[in-house]
Amino acid sequence: MGNQNDMDELLALRAERDAALAELEAIKEVASRAEYWKQRAKSAEGHLFANDVRAAARALHANTTQNEIPFDELSEADRHRRYRGAWTVIASINAERARRLPHDSRDEYVWCGCGDGYPVNSYGAGFMAANSGVCENCAAMSQEASHD
Ligand SMILES: [Zn+2]
Repeated sequence: MGNQNDMDELLALRAERDAALAELEAIKEVASRAEYWKQRAKSAEGHLFANDVRAAARALHANTTQNEIPFDELSEADRHRRYRGAWTVIASINAERARRLPHDSRDEYVWCGCGDGYPVNSYGAGFMAANSGVCENCAAMSQEASHD
């Protein structure tokens, strides 16, 4: 009788331990993803916004009637207009390229001008829908850029 109780208790403890371990794994997974994205948002070198979108915005500016004003001396609103123009153009190119792939992936991802794509129903895609088609990384970079 006592042995049966010990066995039941042991099995209950094992189930509890397994559940706790599974929970710990899930927490580790979330933490490592959060760390990855935090690092990515911080990494100006690694993120295309710092290179492609900035270069495209400057090239766009060179073709405007305000091109005698150095890019960095533009008002914040005008700089953002150039960034948005660049994002729009690059995003449309990304969409065209996605359409031409053997497997049309336009309906699966939402593309930012920086080249990052987010699955349609993901948080990233939702963020872009709420922020004029700009991804979270670009929004963070853009925020930093406006404090230059
Ligand atoms: Zn982006």
